[in-house]
Amino acid sequence: MFDLLVIGAGPGGYTAAARAAKLGLSTAIVEERSWGGTCLNRGCVPTKTLLHASEVYRSAADGAAIGIHAEGLRADIPEIFAYKERISRQLCGGVESLLKGAGVTLLRGRAVITAPGSVRVTGEDGGDYEARRILIATGSVPVRPPIPGLELAMTSDELLEGTDHLYRSIVIIGGGVIGVEFATFYSDLGCSVTLLEGMDRLLPNMDRELGQNLALILKKQGVQVCTRSMVDRLEQTPEGIAVHYTAKETPGCAVGEAVLCAIGRRAFRDGLFAQGLTPETNGHGLWVDEHYQTSIPGVYAIGDVSSPVQLAHVAAAQGAACVEHMAGLSAGVCMDAVPSCIYCRPEIAAVGLTEAEAKERGIPVKTGKCVMGGNARTVIADPGRCFMKVTAHAETGAILGAQLMCPNASDIIGQLGQAIANGMTPGQLLAAMRPHPTYEEALSEALESLAGKL
Ligand code: FAD
Repeated sequence: MFDLLVIGAGPGGYTAAARAAKLGLSTAIVEERSWGGTCLNRGCVPTKTLLHASEVYRSAADGAAIGIHAEGLRADIPEIFAYKERISRQLCGGVESLLKGAGVTLLRGRAVITAPGSVRVTGEDGGDYEARRILIATGSVPVRPPIPGLELAMTSDELLEGTDHLYRSIVIIGGGVIGVEFATFYSDLGCSVTLLEGMDRLLPNMDRELGQNLALILKKQGVQVCTRSMVDRLEQTPEGIAVHYTAKETPGCAVGEAVLCAIGRRAFRDGLFAQGLTPETNGHGLWVDEHYQTSIPGVYAIGDVSSPVQLAHVAAAQGAACVEHMAGLSAGVCMDAVPSCIYCRPEIAAVGLTEAEAKERGIPVKTGKCVMGGNARTVIADPGRCFMKVTAHAETGAILGAQLMCPNASDIIGQLGQAIANGMTPGQLLAAMRPHPTYEEALSEALESLAGKL
């Protein structure tokens, strides 16, 4: 009998299992595919590895403007995907070592919860296992809506398996994070990219200015960006896969050698519960209480399978908080300060509320902004229009949100999350100087402009 049995070894599951074992709980983890889950095998890390490769290519290709002449430049797709695979294998091996080092029992196979406290595993380490508590961390999978012909499109899982050549053209359905990152990768390498988004802007869940600015930048990079474009059907034609869509009541058609469908992910719990076990669900997946317990006593759920925010760091934070609570420690996750990053060029990073969201909630706010045309690093690298915006409560001065669009935004956003989590004001964030020359210096300017309004 284990104290805890975790199902799924993505960032949520492996973080929870390692933390639980360190806290003295006898812990097992079951994984049917690869240690590291979606994040290391089909998500965050493979996409960022591909984006690193395409950035190297793009930099070399653009180098002539600054005196760097790359002769015979060539992007070898099988080699790029082999590099992506090496990075994933290295990091998955690190997860396996972390779990073993923490004293977690590793089980390979597919888990089914047969009763509270009982799990049947089929596969390499098949058998019936008992545990005082079960933690579900089975993640999410891509959705495929019932659009006629959509079986001709790939999901991100399939695209990441690789191809033997660079597509001449690709149509990407979905202008959210995943669609935008793949559009960046393929356009960097010189592939003709069409990006179709049903809403009125890219990244519709983020601050309007980010999506609008991104569309301009992608268009400049050669991507055909079509917003308010709803896909009706797909068909194979001699020229490629035709994606028929309606844009503001006008029919349109984009043809690509390949099509990626990137319109969202759903919680994955297929076949997880034996007959008779029916946990409550909500619009996101499994329903959980404030300590991540499902409606079945002793069965918990964290990460993409139950969270409205599907991000690796959210899954990991929930996993840690969940098992810390089991071990009698008080722990919580500050969901007001969840950073979201998009690794396009330039990067985008946001945390907390946008000005519009704060106003919708009736919160009096002020926003400070720095457009980075005079920032030395921005002038040197010329990544396009970059800016930083920070919003604070107009009366208390507490920082409530920030949106950044500039190189390294994903590394800078953390300090704004810290500020939100700790109720800090612009003045407190300005207490320490920022190094010169950096992109981060623009944050000081945005904060100074905000402090001046408070
Ligand atoms: P997962 O990582 O999905 O892991 C679940 C694991 O459970 C899987 O390994 C699965 O095989 C296993 N499993 C499922 N059912 C069973 C069963 N019955 N028995 C045994 N094992 C089972 N997030 C970010 O924060 N940053 C990013 O840059 C980012 N980029 C992304 C790019 C792409 C293309 C995609 C698809 C996602 C990206 N994400 C990113 C999201 C991130 O990958 C997920 O939020 C994160 O992996 C969720 O972690 P998790 O632990 O909940 O589940």
